[in-house]
Amino acid sequence: MNAPGSRMVERQGWWKAHRFLLLRRISQLSILALFFAGSHLGITLLQGNLSSSLLLETVPLSDPFVLAQLLASGHWPELSALIGGLLVIGFYALVGGRSYCSWVCPVNPVTDLAAWLRRKLGLVKTTQLSPQLRYWILACSLILPLFTGYIVWELVNPVSLLQRGLIFGISAGWSLIAAIFLFDLFITQRGWCRHLCPMGAFYSLIGKVSLVRITTPGRQRCDDCMDCYKVCPEPQILKPVLKPNKDPLTGAAETAPVIIASTCTNCSRCIDVCAEDVFKFGNRFATEVERTQ
Ligand code: SF4
Ligand code: SF4
Repeated sequence: MNAPGSRMVERQGWWKAHRFLLLRRISQLSILALFFAGSHLGITLLQGNLSSSLLLETVPLSDPFVLAQLLASGHWPELSALIGGLLVIGFYALVGGRSYCSWVCPVNPVTDLAAWLRRKLGLVKTTQLSPQLRYWILACSLILPLFTGYIVWELVNPVSLLQRGLIFGISAGWSLIAAIFLFDLFITQRGWCRHLCPMGAFYSLIGKVSLVRITTPGRQRCDDCMDCYKVCPEPQILKPVLKPNKDPLTGAAETAPVIIASTCTNCSRCIDVCAEDVFKFGNRFATEVERTQ
């Protein structure tokens, strides 16, 4: 069985078949490197961490999920933190959707590695979990602070623990990251991000109306090679757009050529691996479908 993207590599070269993957790794590493430089080298482009930071010593940026938990715990954040939260919500709500997951989150390379290794080892057995589970965990992480007065989830949040470990060298949480890796590798395909992580669920919710979307103008060229399904962290979102139901009278597709599902992380791996150039970056109002020759 060919690795997903191998036809793309043959036709358009290795770089083109990995361009967005490389850009995402650069983005994830650069953000961590800037935080590290802000904490240890006195370079103040970006100070703090993913929960709360200061860009160019001026612009506050706050994780709105942490803020929501803080508010639920009965603590009122400083005005600058609230402004920072609104800026981040505005960005993801209008532009980025759930792109936090694939362009910022430091756990993403760990779960991508587990998914890659799963494919390499041919591990197909997966435990079925409901994709709704993450929304229940999200609800619990916001309800618990109401009763305890603590932002309980942040004590065990692997995303926060890993980024603090990488920036400040604090070692708590490494075993949790190892557990996520093993869970994704052996128990459930894309188990953590697709089924459990409440941060991903949170960004899915605030990205419901976001503008930037993956579009499928070339969907008529899709030859069912399944490469995009193999690399997509949320493969259930692809079929309704690639194989839309047709109106029985007119034959027109009933679904616009846009991945409108807010669980899409804009990771762009589908663009990378598709040898038929089916996918593109576009916006949620896209209607264009290229004709086959
Ligand atoms: S789902 Fe959670 S752990 Fe996975 S990439 Fe998104 S924020 Fe990170
Ligand atoms: S549809 Fe494409 S961009 Fe969206 S999550 Fe799947 S592979 Fe990533």
